[in-house]
Amino acid sequence: MRFHGKVAIITGGASGIGAASVRRLHAEGASVMIADLSDTGAALAQELGERAAFQATDVADPAAVKALVAATVARFGGIDILYNNAGIGCFGETPDLAIEDWRRVIAIDLDAVFYACRAAIPEMRKRGGGVIINTASASGLAGDYGFTAYNAAKGAVVNYTRSLAIDHARDNIRANAICPGPVDTPILTDGIMQVPGLRDAWEQVVPMKRFARPEEIAAVACFLASDDASYLTGAAIPVDGGLGAHTGQPDLRAIFAAAN
Ligand code: NAD
Repeated sequence: MRFHGKVAIITGGASGIGAASVRRLHAEGASVMIADLSDTGAALAQELGERAAFQATDVADPAAVKALVAATVARFGGIDILYNNAGIGCFGETPDLAIEDWRRVIAIDLDAVFYACRAAIPEMRKRGGGVIINTASASGLAGDYGFTAYNAAKGAVVNYTRSLAIDHARDNIRANAICPGPVDTPILTDGIMQVPGLRDAWEQVVPMKRFARPEEIAAVACFLASDDASYLTGAAIPVDGGLGAHTGQPDLRAIFAAAN
């Protein structure tokens, strides 16, 4: 019960990494406000029962985010943990990417993080501190082919997290980013993973040769939210099966073996 008496907001809490984090934080004693566009979040809140609530929220709408923070304070008495996790992806190289698509990705993946922090930090100050966790991505630490807007947004989330960490250390607020590699969630499985061969190709470049389970990202989020991470702030933590540890150079072992 690491989070007994704590109140958490989790955006994108209806699905994938967010839903796994909702379940874990709730199981460890937190009161959890699930914020999402999708009504699945309402069913999850109902399933969890006491200490769980759902607020239909478009995180790209600053007024809706302000209302989310107000509803959380009204329902649970304050905010200790803000997990900015809602996100979308979008493919397209720069000349081909529609301006509306660029704006949509930046609005949901980056602007929304600012809106939520802006609304929640004053509430955390009232509690004497708090924790901010942002789901960035491995795609926020390096570039991907054709992932223009997502790379830009997630890279900005990583550096914004550092800015939050240094500005609010004196408020006793820690801020960290999680940078997952591929995770088995609907953002992938409902969309691009339908393309034949894609999953195999992706798994090949991950040293652990598999996607993460959402619970493996939620476990890191809960560590960051907990007092076990009391001296950890401003970090961008890869949770990627070793993806980011690789230079991208070919596996010379296979080439040497074939030559002998
Ligand atoms: P997911 O699709 O299962 O969950 C994303 C959730 O965000 C959904 O419930 C969706 O309804 C919600 N959402 C989308 N737009 C919203 C909006 N405007 N307002 C409120 N909610 C909105 O995918 P996931 O993999 O769990 O994604 C969670 C985060 O993890 C995202 O930020 C994503 O970019 C990031 N991420 C995912 C992967 C991966 O491989 N799955 C890898 C790295 C980073």
